[in-house]
Amino acid sequence: MACSAGGPMEITILDVDEEDTKCNDCGKKFRRPKRKARCPECGSENLGAL
Ligand SMILES: [Zn+2]
Repeated sequence: MACSAGGPMEITILDVDEEDTKCNDCGKKFRRPKRKARCPECGSENLGAL
């Protein structure tokens, strides 16, 4: 029964979209996917960590 309207609402937005990978070909920064990482911009696998 957590339906109390009017109460203080705590909304925590965690920034989980931190970019930790950089494409060495085009310089695009993005968050590394779990699977085989590829640059979303140019499709290169030539990636480096930030
Ligand atoms: Zn790229």
